[in-house]
Amino acid sequence: MKNMDAFLQFLSEYYLLIILGIIIIFVLAGIIIANYSYENFSDEFEKAKQTISGFNGSAVDLANFISYKKFNREISVNVFEKKPNTSNGSYVPAKRMVNISNELANSNSIASIAITSHEFGHACQHYENPKLLERNYKLSKAVHILGLLNWPLFIIAVIMLFTDYFQFTLICLGMIILVFIFALTLKYLTIKIEKDASKRAIKLLQELELFSNKEINQVKKLLKSAKSTYIGDFFRALFSWTGMTHKTKIF
Ligand SMILES: [Zn+2]
Repeated sequence: MKNMDAFLQFLSEYYLLIILGIIIIFVLAGIIIANYSYENFSDEFEKAKQTISGFNGSAVDLANFISYKKFNREISVNVFEKKPNTSNGSYVPAKRMVNISNELANSNSIASIAITSHEFGHACQHYENPKLLERNYKLSKAVHILGLLNWPLFIIAVIMLFTDYFQFTLICLGMIILVFIFALTLKYLTIKIEKDASKRAIKLLQELELFSNKEINQVKKLLKSAKSTYIGDFFRALFSWTGMTHKTKIF
């Protein structure tokens, strides 16, 4: 009983430090997961870039062919120069445009096919539900801005701990937790969209009948390994303010 009292006494004196400690551990674990999952995918991606497929053409040829076959040529294809830490491809709903990086555009590697077909997966989503991608993009921006607030909130929380206004520490920690929950919800929605785009990509490739089962399975494997980075991506988005995570988008 005496031990219990001592323990409660300890808790009531140090609960703010304990909460702070738990948050710091959570942040560090998140950063490790974020960086590890990215490194892991990065290896797979490099391997896939070296794996040449039997497709007689480049990623741009494939993109134009998909646009012609499935989208009545309504989707344009654009090659952009890849800068470090940017994605390899993207789909721009407003322009109905698939962007492919110059590192992938002229190749027929498994990586090139995977990214190209994944972006057309997004195009399928856009045709089916025109508002979906736009809404998600706006929410991502909101989370990013809120994420930037974490750093000042965290500093205020620590400073207030040593003043008479330590209630503000709790308020700041509460706000950080709210941002976490908001970001988590949004990331869940994004992950769903990305998974669905990859699923549609595989379906597209199967329908084209240009690739062997082996090649489609290689693409599937690469897109699947990208999934492991989604959790990492979540932590990356949350902890980019620490400057300790890679700020890297894949596609
Ligand atoms: Zn995507």
